[in-house]
Amino acid sequence: MNIAIDGPAGAGKSTIAKLAAKKLSFVYIDTGAMYRTMAYYFLKHGIDTKEEQAVAEHCGEIGIRIAYEDGDQQIFLNGENVSKEIRGEEVGNQASVVAAYGVVREKLVALQRQMAASTDVVMDGRDIGTVVLPDAELKIYLTAGSAVRAERRYRELQEKGVDCDLKKIEEDIILRDQQDMNREISPLKQAEDAVYLDSSDMTIDEVVQKIITLTEGKRSV
Ligand code: C5P
Repeated sequence: MNIAIDGPAGAGKSTIAKLAAKKLSFVYIDTGAMYRTMAYYFLKHGIDTKEEQAVAEHCGEIGIRIAYEDGDQQIFLNGENVSKEIRGEEVGNQASVVAAYGVVREKLVALQRQMAASTDVVMDGRDIGTVVLPDAELKIYLTAGSAVRAERRYRELQEKGVDCDLKKIEEDIILRDQQDMNREISPLKQAEDAVYLDSSDMTIDEVVQKIITLTEGKRSV
């Protein structure tokens, strides 16, 4: 059984998908980390992400591998664990730029489908219910207002001791939403058969419980 969770930046997808996967004993797959890893490579090697041709030429040099340590996803770029390095805001913004290119998406979608084929997964991203796993048994479109999402990300970064600016975070989130929703290939949108969940006034536990209940409903059919 596969569960697809899509939605805009900062909606809490990873936190929720991870907790739901743990409760259900499914494998959690964070696909955003894969786009971030590609972006991290281009940044590290001084490749201009706005140049699609340059990005395409270097795609073949990037090897991505996923492994699990105590249930936590670890992502390796050409053998190096970059799970922490890819978390910055700049990497996220660049990920949104390269995610618009077909050559990048083809590479990562193939890896995502391969991973979901062999085990029960909760996979989160932008195009999981619409493109990657159109036959997923349960699809969720998880969102929240942009101010709520910015506030959550701000608190998360502050807790990690990262110096940040709330207004800039909200601006980045809005820009990223626009890019992700308006690109030609696999834009972020709710799949027709997805359940819409606005988490603005819900706690993490409430959202997780809702997903568990929906999963149990599907299982009993
Ligand atoms: O989810 P996260 O913020 O880590 O994703 C970073 C970026 O990767 C997103 O803004 C989006 O552009 C891209 N992405 C995507 N498709 C996915 C997952 C992420 O285009 N399935």
